[in-house]
Amino acid sequence: SVTIPDGIRAAAQRTPTKTALVEGDRALTYAQLIERIDRVSNLAVYLGLEHGDRAMVLLPNRLEYVELVLGLASAGVSAVTVGPASSAADIAFILDDCGARVLFVAPELVGRVEESGGGGIEKMIIVGPDYEALLAESSAQMCSVPTDAEDIFMITYTSGSTGAPKGVMLSHRARVNSFHAMSSAHGCYSPDDRSLATTPLFHGAGFMMAVAPLFFGGFCEILPRFDIQHLMGSIERVRANCIYMVPSHFSALFSTDSGRRYDTSSLKALISGTAPLAQAMKERIVDYFGPSRLFERYGSTEASIVSTLRPEDQLRKLKCVGQAFPMTQIRVLDSEGNDVPTGTPGELYSSSPLMFSGYWNRPGLAEQSRRGDWITAGDIAMLDEEGYLYLVDRKSDMIISGGENIYPREVEETLLAHPAVAECGVVGLPHDYWGEAVTAYVVLRENANASPDDLLRHAALTLARFKLPKAIHIVGDLPRNSMGKVLRRTLRQGNWPAVR
Ligand code: ATP
Repeated sequence: SVTIPDGIRAAAQRTPTKTALVEGDRALTYAQLIERIDRVSNLAVYLGLEHGDRAMVLLPNRLEYVELVLGLASAGVSAVTVGPASSAADIAFILDDCGARVLFVAPELVGRVEESGGGGIEKMIIVGPDYEALLAESSAQMCSVPTDAEDIFMITYTSGSTGAPKGVMLSHRARVNSFHAMSSAHGCYSPDDRSLATTPLFHGAGFMMAVAPLFFGGFCEILPRFDIQHLMGSIERVRANCIYMVPSHFSALFSTDSGRRYDTSSLKALISGTAPLAQAMKERIVDYFGPSRLFERYGSTEASIVSTLRPEDQLRKLKCVGQAFPMTQIRVLDSEGNDVPTGTPGELYSSSPLMFSGYWNRPGLAEQSRRGDWITAGDIAMLDEEGYLYLVDRKSDMIISGGENIYPREVEETLLAHPAVAECGVVGLPHDYWGEAVTAYVVLRENANASPDDLLRHAALTLARFKLPKAIHIVGDLPRNSMGKVLRRTLRQGNWPAVR
């Protein structure tokens, strides 16, 4: 069956002169992209990399990202993609864990690699003039190494919220299935569609959003870094049809008023995923972008996309993450592995041909989150009578206060419904009397005013008494990972500063 480069090669045969990929003022046609993919794969062979080897890619969002990962894959080599904000200690850990001997690195990140000690790296290629010279010397013929759809084309490390980072192995087969499922669920990725890659490419979801359009012969522009005004301006300039945004993008859009109204009428699918999108935020999005565009998506790096809520359901199915994704089955189970009744919370499992192939170098670890063919990301959820899925929260984030179980998400949703609140994160902090005290960190919208007491009174209108925060801190910002996800584990340290 098909590998990702096979699909792009087929598109290149149909439309060789069409622009495939853009970043800033640089662009590649399909023919140029394939040529560069082939040169990378021959370079990999020249460097002594063999089928099944790993090479690390440490770059910000740049044009070369795509050709590197796919060129390595064409030589049967798995790209280990590492976030450009990773610390030297994380780089050292991952280099050691994945056993990469070759590293492709952006010039500005070389110092970080040196600080990390460089692991067992034999060859470090700086993606700049050196890299271009090596590519120019490499053959542009299609690489002769046989590849297979079960090959691992990318290993992406989780952020390690639950212990050491784990390398999630993603096969061509799983990703190609995800591309087809996305195309069918979102009605995108015809050759005429135009996409923007808005999130970091090292992350499974970010890379998928950049490469799915190319697989179907479309167009993608990579945005080098996050800047909401640039993102919105790009939708207008590119006449984008399909983009992925994360909730923090929307917070940035709505918490500051630039006074500029962008033309987003070209959008067919505005997909939000990665982190919870509060109902109040969904309503603002529908209001701003129009009623027939927003898809919410739930998934994980390991399971891929699990569910999606369609535009027509956004205001009908409240606080809902939709129905099972194409080719995906979902179940909600109790601790004994029995299906729970409709409307009862339990642990969410999914089964599909979109899933990961296991954790690199950790045989058996995937079994801990698996029951037969079903896997869980550790989220608590429930199903309604129409088969729609509602996420309660991450099991590991549950707060136990005064003997009661409280999911922070519900408290966050309530605070986010206050008009002055832009962002918020809720955690349980150790407390002598309560065990854990529900503690909220709140960022106010620009020029908005509300005191902790005002917010508490607002929360008391809908939340049960035992769920009310014992403390609300108004802060300047929240700790976030590179996908914009609020880092509750940092808040749980109890010393989040930036108090205004
Ligand atoms: P780590 O597991 O290392 O902390 P991570 O959580 O960022 O990393 P991902 O696989 O990117 O790893 O995230 C998956 C999790 O993100 C899901 O299990 C779920 O908790 C959360 N998530 C994803 N999409 C949504 C969504 N639409 N609504 C709420 N939560 C979501």
